[in-house]
Amino acid sequence: MMDYDNDGQLTVVGQSCRKFTSGKPDGRKYNRAAGEDISCSGCSHWNGEACIKNSFDNVLTRLDSEG
Ligand code: SF4
Repeated sequence: MMDYDNDGQLTVVGQSCRKFTSGKPDGRKYNRAAGEDISCSGCSHWNGEACIKNSFDNVLTRLDSEG
């Protein structure tokens, strides 16, 4: 089993989540095309432990079902 449960998962989900909102204080938009480091941990909906929008599990389930 790879170490996929922590940072990697936050990145995978963050990059696939339509509700991702940059939590950066300067309000700078993430540039997905440039491959910036998008992750739940950089999302304004992430409280440090969980997604306050309850989107995390939904996105993860969708990703799993898409294989
Ligand atoms: S914290 Fe929630 S809303 Fe933000 S990218 Fe992750 S799953 Fe989506």
